[in-house]
Amino acid sequence: MRIVVVGGGMAGTIFANNLARRLSSELRAGKARITMLTASDRHVYQPGWLYVALGRMTPDELEREQASLLEPGIGLHVDPVKQFNLADNNVVTEAGKTHEYDLLVIATGSRPVPEDIPGLQENAIHCYSADNAMKFYDRLNEFKGGRILVTVGLPHKCPMIPLEITFCMHDFVRERGLLDKTEFYYTYPIGRSHSLENVAKWASPEFEQLGIRQETFFNLKEVDGANAVARSEEGSEIKYDLLVTVPPHRGQKVIEANNLGANGFIPTDRASLHMQGEHGNNVIVLGDTTNLPISKAGSTAHFEAEVAAENVASLIKTGRAVRAYDGKVFCFIEAGRGRATYAMFNYSKPPQPKAPNAAMHAFKMAYNKLYWASARGVL
Ligand SMILES: Cc1cc2nc3c(=O)[nH]c(=O)nc-3n(C[C@H](O)[C@H](O)[C@H](O)COP(=O)(O)OP(=O)(O)OC[C@H]3O[C@@H](n4cnc5c(N)ncnc54)[C@H](O)[C@@H]3O)c2cc1C
Repeated sequence: MRIVVVGGGMAGTIFANNLARRLSSELRAGKARITMLTASDRHVYQPGWLYVALGRMTPDELEREQASLLEPGIGLHVDPVKQFNLADNNVVTEAGKTHEYDLLVIATGSRPVPEDIPGLQENAIHCYSADNAMKFYDRLNEFKGGRILVTVGLPHKCPMIPLEITFCMHDFVRERGLLDKTEFYYTYPIGRSHSLENVAKWASPEFEQLGIRQETFFNLKEVDGANAVARSEEGSEIKYDLLVTVPPHRGQKVIEANNLGANGFIPTDRASLHMQGEHGNNVIVLGDTTNLPISKAGSTAHFEAEVAAENVASLIKTGRAVRAYDGKVFCFIEAGRGRATYAMFNYSKPPQPKAPNAAMHAFKMAYNKLYWASARGVL
């Protein structure tokens, strides 16, 4: 059985390691082979970019060699895929190599596209790469007061970041004694402050307590940098002194170029995680790349990867898949003033965020270090 995993991020790495452990004897006997094709020799813990933007972590703390994270027996090639020939059961890489498979796992993630909105890229700061997170810190550090406007594009990875970044910037400004000179203005594209209703019910009063102004139904249309104004599709205009954005996302260009899914997100079965359609029988999709109606989060990638690895191992050993993904997601939410809460939910059970506390914040900070054990499949 030749298993080819495309993408060495959270989903691809956790899947490959989990599967390699389950199939250690099959791998040794040459009955199974796991090949990973990825775009970088570095593995990045992206959630840490939030803390880089706030000056609390440095980018090097968030990276490891991809090869150092993989179980023995996984063949790693840092050679991105450019062509998916699903009818012929093979993929072709940028270097021109063809890899045949019996099972293909696609986990290429998603990418921010601030360039899709006129003026956004040039005028806003965000924390969706190490470089951008460092620029974010510089601009926040230079800020001397005025209006901080937060805009949010959908879909985006990390469902909680609009809230977290706002609470954390509020701390940053307060700690520098600038709170009385600063107005926070939070906007959100739908009719409440977060896509998850119970999270919105928890967050909005927290914002009110801190004096953070909120505007819903604000879908950013364009940013006029010369006049420092953000305009929405709904006709609203908001002036800003510092524009902070959670940019909209798409899947990878390679997914769009191969017509695997609109905007780079692949139609995926919500329970089996197989690609929908003609070739779905031997194609699994994991992590941000799916079009599933759930959060694009590391925890989603993690829980999906575990289900998929268990199923593939069971198929190889017994001829049957044994688990269905139930939509499980777990997200910490930094709530400012050294506190955090969390949202745990699935397709049928909505989250019930509790009052934030210091212990949950400490837990999130600890997880930021423990992630590497997760990636290796130990945690
Ligand atoms: C600022 C920030 C904060 C976040 N905070 C949280 C949080 O608190 N909690 C949480 O759960 N999640 C959080 N996330 C989201 C989380 O990081 C992503 O949802 C997660 O990384 C998705 O995993 P993935 O494997 O689908 O994609 P990724 O981890 O992005 O991996 C994609 C992989 O595909 C590879 N690749 C790309 N193109 C190709 C190609 N053509 N061929 C082969 N390989 C390719 C890349 O090199 C990469 O290895 C955060 C993200 C950001 C940016």
